[in-house]
Amino acid sequence: MNATPASAILPSLSFRLGDVSIARIEDYQGPGLSSTGMFPACRPDMWLSHASWLVPHFYDPATDRLRTSIHSWLVTTPRHKILIDCCIGNGKHRPSDPRFHMRNEPWLERLAAAGAHPDEIDFVMCTHFHADHVGWHTRRVDGRWVPTFRNARYLFKRQEFDRWDERRADHVPRESQRFVFADSVLPVVEAGQAVLIDDGHVVDDRLTVEPAPGHTAGNAVIRLRAAGERALFSGDVIHHPVQLPYPELCSVFDDDPALALATRRRVLDAAAASGDLLLPTHFAAPFCCRIEGAGQGYRPRWRAA
Ligand SMILES: [Zn+2]
Repeated sequence: MNATPASAILPSLSFRLGDVSIARIEDYQGPGLSSTGMFPACRPDMWLSHASWLVPHFYDPATDRLRTSIHSWLVTTPRHKILIDCCIGNGKHRPSDPRFHMRNEPWLERLAAAGAHPDEIDFVMCTHFHADHVGWHTRRVDGRWVPTFRNARYLFKRQEFDRWDERRADHVPRESQRFVFADSVLPVVEAGQAVLIDDGHVVDDRLTVEPAPGHTAGNAVIRLRAAGERALFSGDVIHHPVQLPYPELCSVFDDDPALALATRRRVLDAAAASGDLLLPTHFAAPFCCRIEGAGQGYRPRWRAA
């Protein structure tokens, strides 16, 4: 891990918004699933119609692979350091996805380069419990999974926690989620660092948890209000920029595609009306944008690097 070149460790995006600083902490950027592997209703003409801005930054026609990113957002306020969505993690047994399986990536070094030691993290928040959002919750020490951020409170939405709690009699398993609750959520509970919260929960007078159901039952977005500036950590409400002109494209990972689509339109309509900066989890560079348009189709206005 120490041989990783510095250029690979440095965070590729950080900026100030109001009285907070925001840094993107990368765990993966590169080829994702095929277009229809991710969005079954995706058609070749969708890429052709928007090739001027989607290709090659977000789609490789030669291989039919989406270009994707998996990153965390570090929010540093005058009082706290807060992590939003904790990516894939290292050493996790993920047999259903080779990209996620038994990784060894310098995510912690990137976090340090962005100015945060794990012990300095005050709050860990996640939009939902999928494997690519909770992985760094824990790391393996002496053969046991322990919380990566030993001084943090981990804020878990009660509804999402219940959805994935495999100890429940009514638990509905998903192959891509095998081992995730046991290695990335339960150890946090056992360490006494989990706090169950509901929609409307506010952190540091700046971050508010809001409902965004569909992708998962308890899926959330996290709204930032910072000294007059506003942004929205939108998680997987929208996975990929092709869903801006075609919001009707639903991913194979949506628990309830119809509800996910209604949520996506509601969130994008509101972002277009308000001018809020949208900070998704999986957009490749330049990672975040403001939204123009309404209803049936949207356009990004990328934030300058
Ligand atoms: Zn995701």
